[in-house]
Amino acid sequence: MKFIPTMRPGFDIRSSSDCFGTCSVCKSPYDPWSVHEIGAQEERYLLHIVCQKCQTAILALISVQNSEVKTLELITDLNQKDVIKFGRKEPISVNDVLELHNQL
Ligand SMILES: [Zn+2]
Repeated sequence: MKFIPTMRPGFDIRSSSDCFGTCSVCKSPYDPWSVHEIGAQEERYLLHIVCQKCQTAILALISVQNSEVKTLELITDLNQKDVIKFGRKEPISVNDVLELHNQL
């Protein structure tokens, strides 16, 4: 995925005039209304995007620092509500993994 926001202050991450992106699976341009902001903190944005053509869902973490934009993307089967639901849960700890291992 290429998702490139502009660098001006106060840009709208969902505005087609401020950023654009293409699906990494089918290379179609994203419809700006298929981009949903899940969360934002300072200059970091977590987005859920569903390609209108191939229906692939992507979680994108975008970080804007000075004039540098970094993106991290992940194809997911989570819908927008699932991302919010699981994002509110406590992280899985090492003890949780060991407990599951013992139960198995
Ligand atoms: Zn696509």
